Amino acid sequence: MEIIAKVQGLKKYYGHGAGQVKALNGVDLEIEKGKFTMIIGTSGSGKTTLLNLLGGQDRPTQGEIFVEGTRINALKEAQLAVYRRNKVGFIYQNFNLIPMLTVRENILFPLDMGGQKPDMKFFKELTETLGLKDRLDAYPGELSGGQKQQAAIARALLPKPALVLADEPTGNLDTRSGQNVLGLLRMMNIQYHQTLVMITHNLDIAQTADRIIRIEDGKIVDRGM
Ligand code: ADP
Ligand code: MG
Repeated sequence: MEIIAKVQGLKKYYGHGAGQVKALNGVDLEIEKGKFTMIIGTSGSGKTTLLNLLGGQDRPTQGEIFVEGTRINALKEAQLAVYRRNKVGFIYQNFNLIPMLTVRENILFPLDMGGQKPDMKFFKELTETLGLKDRLDAYPGELSGGQKQQAAIARALLPKPALVLADEPTGNLDTRSGQNVLGLLRMMNIQYHQTLVMITHNLDIAQTADRIIRIEDGKIVDRGM
């Protein structure tokens, strides 16, 4: 079993004094390569904070974060931006597609930003597997919620990141589209050995994972192994 990400003594506090929020209050965690890991917990328990720290979108108050051996909490801003671009794929509840760009352009956007050449064979395979083949020239506004999330999955996977981080990706979808998106994420995990860490509120959805981590009040209360 290979560890792809490791978190030690992680704390994230917001604000100061009486109004201070301890969003994460001492988290130790190892994420195994190739696994589909779910994070569950009540609203405000610190799930998004943890995912954002893993993804280099925010910095911890205290503690260490290693991804593929790189100590990302020690990176300078420019290096952190490179880390976010090359090593992490994000999938959001609200899809975060760019409305003025087509599906194709949205999927290619992160690589374009980094001046990197996409693997067009993989692009073709990925968009076909995700059922986007006929929607590549459409704009996000012309897609259903499920299709938007399919496009967001392709965008996250195309750069072949070490980690794909998904924050309640089924949260804005009806049950059927949500199941479909979940099935596609699982397929990506199996077919491409893509390491996935996903937050969900839905216990039925969580059950499909390799591992379920429960977090409450900024601490892990069940590490699922
Ligand atoms: P979850 O995703 O589990 O619902 P979050 O990680 O978003 O929880 O938030 C954990 C706690 O930190 C909550 O109390 C939330 O209000 C607080 N929090 C999150 N982000 C910020 C922020 N940028 N500023 C202040 N407080 C925040
Ligand atoms: Mg959240």
